[in-house]
Amino acid sequence: MGKKQETQLQSCLTELNLTTARKQYTELAEKAESESLSYQEFLLSVLDAECQARRIRRIERGLRESRLPLEKNFETFDLKRLPQKVNQQIKTLLHGEFLNHNENILIFGNPGSGKTHLICALGQELLRQDKRVYFSTCALLLQELLLAKKDLRLPRVLKKLSRFDALIIDDIGYVQQEKEEMEVLFTLLAERYEKGSVMITSNLPFSKWENIFKDPMMTAAAVDRIVHHSVILELNVASYRINTAKNRKLKEAS
Ligand code: ADP
Ligand code: MG
Repeated sequence: MGKKQETQLQSCLTELNLTTARKQYTELAEKAESESLSYQEFLLSVLDAECQARRIRRIERGLRESRLPLEKNFETFDLKRLPQKVNQQIKTLLHGEFLNHNENILIFGNPGSGKTHLICALGQELLRQDKRVYFSTCALLLQELLLAKKDLRLPRVLKKLSRFDALIIDDIGYVQQEKEEMEVLFTLLAERYEKGSVMITSNLPFSKWENIFKDPMMTAAAVDRIVHHSVILELNVASYRINTAKNRKLKEAS
């Protein structure tokens, strides 16, 4: 290929934003020649390199944007601590199909049972499968929504959240929330109903959710919407924190 064509090729690739193809085509062309690849096979190798690099960048961006604590993943999580049924449920959830149906995930369990860690690990896996995930503690999310409401930005913030396939709300009802906070939470849940998945963790069984939403009607309406299409995971296991502390004590004693 002549110098002029080479320059033209490079400017085409730049104009099309094919940065990886631009960087790699020479090398890939040499490889294609030595392996006697067809024109189509060569084209595939170039576009595949571009797609892969874009996917990696997209996921890195998604991980930053998700605000997930990345150290809470399946590599650092001991699945054997969980009941067999929950392990089965996790396997199914990892296919990500529930997100296509806007189904919700609810994880219940006592403090320290691993709810936060598990939901973050799930979120991270789904994100790596190219799903858009957003993580927040319930308290922080409510603070943000209230502030947005005060500044008349609530619709905009809700719209931003609606672009995520999964919205993780960690620790719903952990703190006693104000009625106003609960109203924005309700608005958010009603808005997402059948339009996007929420993944929620809670120490409180549904029977105690009146403590969260204050108002029995609102509680019933919220629970109804959340449960309508949902998968419930019950982590009836002892606290990991207490267990590790106990094991440490035992070790020290022996
Ligand atoms: P919860 O949200 O149910 O209160 P966390 O997920 O915060 O519990 O877990 C408490 C601590 O124990 C965290 O540091 C977490 O990483 C760890 N932990 C809990 N369950 C497991 C597990 N099965 N394997 C590894 N670490 C765990
Ligand atoms: Mg937690």
